[in-house]
Amino acid sequence: MTMEYGQTRQLRQVHTYDTVIVGAGGAGMRAAIEAAPRCRTAVLSKLYPTRSHTGAAQGGMAAALANVEEDNWEWHTFDTIKGGDYLVDQDAAEILAKEAIDSVLDLEKMGLPFNRTPDGTIDQRRFGGHSRDHGEAPVRRSCYAADRTGHMILQTLYQNCLKLGVEFFDEYYVLDQLLTEVGGVRHSAGVVAYRLATGELHVFRAKSVIYASGGCGKFFKVTSNAHTLTGDGQAAVYRRGLPLEDMEFFQFHPTGIWRMGILLTEGARGEGGILRNTHGERFMEKYAPVMKDLASRDVVSRAIYTEIREGRGCGPEGDHVYLDLTHLPHEQLDAKLPDITEFARTYLGIEPYTDPIPIQPTAHYAMGGIPTTVHGEVLADNTAVVPGLYAAGEVACVSVHGANRLGTNSLLDINVFGRRAGLAAAAYAATAALPELPEDPAGWVERRIEGLREATGSERVAVLRAELQETLDANVMVFRTEQTIGAALAKLAELRGRYAEVSVQDKGRRFNTDLLEAVELGNLLELAEVMAACALARRESRGGHYREDFPHRDDVHFMRHSMAYREVAADGTESVRIDYKPVVQTRYQPMERTY
Ligand SMILES: Cc1cc2nc3c(=O)[nH]c(=O)nc-3n(C[C@H](O)[C@H](O)[C@H](O)COP(=O)(O)OP(=O)(O)OC[C@H]3O[C@@H](n4cnc5c(N)ncnc54)[C@H](O)[C@@H]3O)c2cc1C
Repeated sequence: MTMEYGQTRQLRQVHTYDTVIVGAGGAGMRAAIEAAPRCRTAVLSKLYPTRSHTGAAQGGMAAALANVEEDNWEWHTFDTIKGGDYLVDQDAAEILAKEAIDSVLDLEKMGLPFNRTPDGTIDQRRFGGHSRDHGEAPVRRSCYAADRTGHMILQTLYQNCLKLGVEFFDEYYVLDQLLTEVGGVRHSAGVVAYRLATGELHVFRAKSVIYASGGCGKFFKVTSNAHTLTGDGQAAVYRRGLPLEDMEFFQFHPTGIWRMGILLTEGARGEGGILRNTHGERFMEKYAPVMKDLASRDVVSRAIYTEIREGRGCGPEGDHVYLDLTHLPHEQLDAKLPDITEFARTYLGIEPYTDPIPIQPTAHYAMGGIPTTVHGEVLADNTAVVPGLYAAGEVACVSVHGANRLGTNSLLDINVFGRRAGLAAAAYAATAALPELPEDPAGWVERRIEGLREATGSERVAVLRAELQETLDANVMVFRTEQTIGAALAKLAELRGRYAEVSVQDKGRRFNTDLLEAVELGNLLELAEVMAACALARRESRGGHYREDFPHRDDVHFMRHSMAYREVAADGTESVRIDYKPVVQTRYQPMERTY
C-alpha cells in the first residue's frame, strides 16, 4: 500500500493486487474461492459480506441431480431457454445446466446443510417452469435448505473464504471503474473505492477486476430487493462507455407480500400452495393448464394482474390475490417453509395454517446487466472483450436468463459463473502485466463526493427516490405501453435535472451514509433511464417485458439482445444509444410458449 495526494490534496491510499472482486455476495465469494489460492486477491464490499442479498434467497438452487425423480441436464437447459422466452444464449444455458450438478456437490462438500431425503441424499422440490421431458409435468429439481437456501450458501461460502485467508475490505464502496488504453484497446486498471468508516478514497490497482455487485431493483417501490441493491457496478461501467445488455427485462415475482413486496418464495407453490382470486377460484388453471401455479413467473404475474384488472382481485380495493397454504399439513409448513410462514404472522398478523396470505407481484430480479462471455469476460461491444474486466452474478448478463429467469436459476448462476469468472480472472492475472493507472485516478470520484458534500441545493434524496420508485411502479411494471414508458422517461429527465440540485445534510467524513445514498440515487436514476429507453425501443412482448401495444413476440425483428451505450453530446447532454446483438442458438428452435 502506498500513499499519494490527489489534486485537492486529499490523502489517498493506493493498494495493488492481482485480482480485485467487487462484491461479497454469492457470486463474489464463489469467485474468491477460485482466485485467492491462485493469485493475490482482495474482495471489496459495501456491506459486511454475510449481509449481501444472496442471504435473503429462500427457495433453492436448481440442478438435475435426479435424486427424487427422473431428470437430466438437457431438460433443465430446455426449461431455461423456454423460460427465458428464447432470448437466452443457448451455449451459456447448456453450461449452466451441465455444471449445476457439480456446483451443488461442491457446496455440499464445503459444508452446506441441504435438506435430505429419507435415504440421505439431497432433497429436491418443485419450482416454476422446471419440468420433466420438455414441459410434460413439473419436476423436483430445486435443492434447498428449508426456505433459507441463500443464507446457507452465503454462510458456507464466507466460512470457506475465511479458511482460505481471502482478504476482505468491508464497507468499501466502489464508485468508479478505471480503464487505461494500451495499443488503442481499453484495459481494466482497477477501481476507486470510498471507505465508509473514514471517508477516505482508496485506489485499487489490479490486473483483473470482477464485478459481483448484485442487482438494481431498488428503483421500484414494491420490491423484494434489499435497500442496497442500487446497481452501482452496472452504473460504474456504463458511465465509462461500456454497454449494458437487455436492461428492459426485469422480473416481477408473483408472490410478494401485499403492498410491502417482501418475498414469499415460489417454493410455497412448489410445496403445493395455490393462488386464488376473490371467488376462491384456482385461476392459474385457466392460464397454464399443465403447470398451473408453477408456470414461469412472467406468466403468473400477468395472470394475477389480469384477475385484478377484471375485477376478481381480493380485499376492499380488489388489488391483490391470495396465496393459499391452508390445505398443507402444519408439519410440512414448519419443516419446509418456516421463514415465510413467520413473515405472514409478523408483517400481516395472519396465521397461514388457517388463512390465505394476501400477495401481489413484486419487482425481483434484473435479467439484464453487464454483458459477458461464458468465462465472465466483460464485453466492450458485440464481440470484443475488455482485457482484465470480468462480471458475474446478478450484475452480469451472460445471458442465461434471457427475457425471464426461472426460479432457483440465480443461486445456480452465481455459483457456476462466479466460479468461472474467478478462474478466468486469476488465469489472466497470471500472465498479464500490472496496468498503468490513468492520470489522477481518483479525481472523478473526489469531485463527485466533494461536490455532493458542498452542495446547498434544495432537493432531497428521499423525495427524489420516492418519486422515481412511484414512477417506475406506475409505468414500467408488468404491463407497459409506449405512452406509459414515454411518461416515465419524461419524469426521469425531470428527476435527473432535479438531482443536480441535491444536497446532503450530513457533511461529515465518518460513516456518512447520507452521502452514499445520494450517490446510489444517481446510479438508480441513470439505470432507470436505460431500462425505460430499452423498453420503449423493444416493440414486442417477450418474457418479463410485456407491451400491451405490441402483445406478441416478434422473432423477426426482436430475437436479439439490446445493448445500451451512454452517449454524451458536445454540449454535455447525455442520451442512451441502443444497438443489438444476436442471440446464440444451438439446438432449440423458438416455439410458442405455453405452460
Ligand atoms: C428475497 C429474495 C429471494 C431470492 N430467492 C432466490 C432463490 O430462492 N433462488 C434463486 O436462485 N434466486 C433467488 N433470488 C435471487 C438471488 O438471490 C440473487 O440474484 C443472487 O443472490 C445475487 O447474488 P450476487 O452475488 O450477484 O449479488 P448479492 O448477493 O446481491 O451481493 C452483492 C454484493 O455486492 C456488494 N456491492 C454492491 N455495490 C457495491 C459497491 N458499490 N461497492 C462495493 N461492493 C458493492 C454488496 O456489498 C454485496 O456484497 C432471490 C432474491 C431475493 C431478493
